[in-house]
Amino acid sequence: MKILVLNCGSSSLKYQLIDMDNNNEVMAVGLCERIGIDGRLKHEAEGKDAYISEAPLPDHNAAVKAVMEALLDKDHGVISDVSEIGGVGHRVVHGGESFASSVVITPEVKAAIQDCCKLAPLHNPANLIGINACEDIMPGVPQVAVFDTAFHQTMPEKAYMYALPYELYEKHKIRKYGFHGTSHKFVTQKCAELMGKNVEDINIITCHLGNGGSLSAVKNGKCVDTTMGLTPLAGIVMGTRCGNIDPAIVNFIMEAEGLSGKEVDNLMNKQSGVLGLSGVSSDFRDLEAAANEGNKRARIALDTFHYTVAKFIGEYLVALNGTDAIVFTAGIGENSASSRQEICNYLTFLGIKLDPEKNSQRGKAQCISTEDSPIKVYVIPTNEELMIALDTNRLITA
Ligand code: ADP
Repeated sequence: MKILVLNCGSSSLKYQLIDMDNNNEVMAVGLCERIGIDGRLKHEAEGKDAYISEAPLPDHNAAVKAVMEALLDKDHGVISDVSEIGGVGHRVVHGGESFASSVVITPEVKAAIQDCCKLAPLHNPANLIGINACEDIMPGVPQVAVFDTAFHQTMPEKAYMYALPYELYEKHKIRKYGFHGTSHKFVTQKCAELMGKNVEDINIITCHLGNGGSLSAVKNGKCVDTTMGLTPLAGIVMGTRCGNIDPAIVNFIMEAEGLSGKEVDNLMNKQSGVLGLSGVSSDFRDLEAAANEGNKRARIALDTFHYTVAKFIGEYLVALNGTDAIVFTAGIGENSASSRQEICNYLTFLGIKLDPEKNSQRGKAQCISTEDSPIKVYVIPTNEELMIALDTNRLITA
């Protein structure tokens, strides 16, 4: 069966077509950008020239139609009929407390996703538009929702409750949800495979370090804590997000800079993190280059990032009462040997030691700690699209 994986943002749509019967081969990948502005589609398929269309994309319906046209195109396409697509898997950002796993989309599921729009006002509405567009354009093709929050629904109350008046949780569902769940789940399963164990038998700390980043404490294969919160702003220092700060700073900045709450929220999401600290870039390649050339603020940004990640690993050693392994994934986790080394430098008291040769390799899922390291360290490339396709395939063939 061929599964179309869709990730709809407010003005973008990323897609992959994956052939589940052919070793999960990615047949095509693409991206629609500037939806509702003008429109651009880039489509790539194995063994074929990349295809770019600048035809207008006034809305997500037009974008889904353009994706279909690209997939069916006689020169650049990979299928000859829409009926070859057996199912569509949608990345949905927020499932609130309603979804602890992926589900086949029904009218009730759509209503529950709609209910979560107030928790993710930038993302869930776009996800719903994508679902509706697929229903219009591919009627009858089963669709599955895979939630960023689902993997974290196993957290105990003591981990997800904020010490605010309890009524705020009851009234508005203010609590920790966590994000990147699809990635944390994928690398957890992969880690169990690499360790030769059942997923129920591993206790690990997963570090998803990308432009956005989060850590999870995973006990017996289930998430018991994670660093992101009600929103993806919480936790570690990120590319442009500040992560955990003194909550009183919000009001302080509002008064000191004469900004509205919305403006401070924007500042903390888009102008903070390593970008705000360094004034150089949110990209770790730029930061590493600048720090190597002696840029002090780039060094401060990198040091702050590594220190916060290491401290959360410490927190999760407590949550798990130890750990079997630490897993690094996503853009920085997979590619930055120096970041992995600098984070692990804080953990030498545990006997953790990286093998420099293995730590310098890229692109492969493997253990990068030395034989005698009592806690193993792994690099595992994440694959959220494959996780979505696997869940979609499993649910619609069940
Ligand atoms: P997202 O999906 O959140 O956009 P990614 O997981 O793709 O993020 O990670 C993107 C980040 O990964 C970039 O901003 C960059 O900082 C980092 N990155 C990518 N390649 C490298 C590299 N070779 N060395 C250091 N950092 C890298």
